[in-house]
Amino acid sequence: KQQYTLVQRPVGMPDETHLKLEEADMPVAGEGEVLLKTRYLSLDPYMRGRMNDSASYATPVALGDVMTGEAVSEVLESNHPDLSPGDMVIGRTGWQTHSAATPDILYRIDPDLAPPSAWLGVIGMPGFTAYVGLREFGQPKAGETVVVSAASGAVGQVVGQIAKMKGCRVVGVAGADDKCQHVVDHYGFDACVNYKDEDFEEQLQAACPNGIDVYFENVGGKVFDAVMKMVNDFARIPVCGRIAHYNQTKLPEGPDRLIPFMGQILVKRLMFRGFIQSDHSELLPDFRRDMGQWLREGKVKYQEDVVEGFDHTLDAFQGLLQGRNRGKLVIKVS
Ligand code: NDP
Repeated sequence: KQQYTLVQRPVGMPDETHLKLEEADMPVAGEGEVLLKTRYLSLDPYMRGRMNDSASYATPVALGDVMTGEAVSEVLESNHPDLSPGDMVIGRTGWQTHSAATPDILYRIDPDLAPPSAWLGVIGMPGFTAYVGLREFGQPKAGETVVVSAASGAVGQVVGQIAKMKGCRVVGVAGADDKCQHVVDHYGFDACVNYKDEDFEEQLQAACPNGIDVYFENVGGKVFDAVMKMVNDFARIPVCGRIAHYNQTKLPEGPDRLIPFMGQILVKRLMFRGFIQSDHSELLPDFRRDMGQWLREGKVKYQEDVVEGFDHTLDAFQGLLQGRNRGKLVIKVS
């Protein structure tokens, strides 16, 4: 059995001095438990926050513990009547090749609805995040302009496709030309702009001739600054993530912009709403029903970036924080 243990808290980009790949004893399934072999491990931006020892909506990973994360696993042995060897389950089993768990923290996936890895992406947590954020807080109406950042990623690709189904003009923002091309060609976005281009703001303005009604915020930083110049009265801004700041070690230089920002919220009657998907689990049945249908009908497509080999987990995670991934990042463990 192999596992990644958090041995030191990173400042900036995490590396092998913070997350140690080590051999460990094979777990044993106790009474009422199952023994699991990890098939696909999900890598997600929130994991960077769990490495910090700071107040957040979730407790940080303790030093010396296996790094947290969701995975799709196969049941190898079962001491519980609800699960049998061969069943595929999803659960927060962490960055490890094997684990033992009780069925109450596991969910048996339906492989007929979507392949196992998709339960970590489009029909899993990131897809649900897109669904909740738009439905509850973005509330796009037909004809409105929806902008989403990290547009080609696990959450962004779903946000754009749901907004298209609602009849909106959808504009993505991403950090590479091929990512932009992909969201336009494969998911039907109306436009997508590369925030690394020098004339990014002009391009975004041209792509949003009627301003911006919904901004699905995934990144913060310069994308947020540009969007704020273009939001319409009564715009809704679901604040989902701020990945541009996750490795930041100090605040940027420059004047304090809080006062004009608060002024803009007032004058334009803006609605900002931070949300965490796990607070909305009552919507999971609706989501699985709707997304299952959209996938069957081909209305929602998805792209996964599958990295083979458990020992590539840390490198792949660094890539996620630098924009190397193309779509939902998963590790194929075996
Ligand atoms: P992605 O699959 O989109 O991967 C992360 C992407 O973020 C990278 O590919 C990169 O794309 C972009 N990125 C990385 N660094 C920067 C930067 N400095 N500036 C701008 N963009 C950057 O990840 P997810 O779709 O899983 O997550 C997207 C966001 O949603 C994250 O902020 C995450 O924390 C948040 N989230 C929030 C949840 C909630 O409940 N609130 C639940 C799940 C996710 P590019 O090349 O385009 O820059």
